[in-house]
Amino acid sequence: MKYLFSAWEELGPLLQGAPLFLFLDYDGTLAPIAATPAKAKILPGNKKILEELSNTLGIKLAIISGREMGDIKSRLGLKNIIYAANHGLEIDGPRIKFKSQVGLKFRKTIKNIHDHLKNKLSEVRGALIEDKGLSLSLHYRMVKDAEVPRVKALFHELVIVPLVKNKIKVTGGKKVLKIRPAVKWDKGKVTLWLLARQQFNQGNKKILPVYIGDDLTDEDAFKALRNKGITIVVGKTSGSYAQFYLKDAVEVGEFLQRIKLCRN
Ligand SMILES: [Mg+2]
Repeated sequence: MKYLFSAWEELGPLLQGAPLFLFLDYDGTLAPIAATPAKAKILPGNKKILEELSNTLGIKLAIISGREMGDIKSRLGLKNIIYAANHGLEIDGPRIKFKSQVGLKFRKTIKNIHDHLKNKLSEVRGALIEDKGLSLSLHYRMVKDAEVPRVKALFHELVIVPLVKNKIKVTGGKKVLKIRPAVKWDKGKVTLWLLARQQFNQGNKKILPVYIGDDLTDEDAFKALRNKGITIVVGKTSGSYAQFYLKDAVEVGEFLQRIKLCRN
């Protein structure tokens, strides 16, 4: 993997001309990871540059997040962009609205797991359950190290039945365990779908996709965009399908600034 700013000679010309579709994850990408999901705020500079880019001709923006729709929208507060929440199970933006029906059927399973988890983890300090309707996350960043194995064991015990019945998918992440419906839909598929749709709307004009993310669920998008666009992982220098890396959310902002500059 190359450090993105060291590869500018190769990248700069690509970003100058073609219509761009920027896909951005939120946590760890636009907002530094915080102690709890509620505290993860977008860097003010990143918000400002996103707003500018959202009003720049030839640039389309989408936020692809595991967060719930209302949550991610209020954290960005920008109008002219597409929001793909719950890993793409809900999409909302200018002239686009989508909610997975498979996801709706799945709510009952999620609710069950949520209730059981809440019950079992009530005495574990720092365990945080985030119910996002169509998905669920268990955050253990605030749990004492010695207690983490117990939290993980409890989680796996509760998800094993729906997991073997193929009702749900379980993924890890940065101090988090995530449950999603077992549908063939992920950040990679939603990215390809949004890209194809945009290409169709513009009379099949070629569009260059750029995807920036930091965690396991973003790897599906890095894989999907192989040889199709520019993929950037944040905070790692190896062990990713992305072609380039950036160090942190501040550098993501710098990269977006550079895009803006070379489009003027
Ligand atoms: Mg992330």
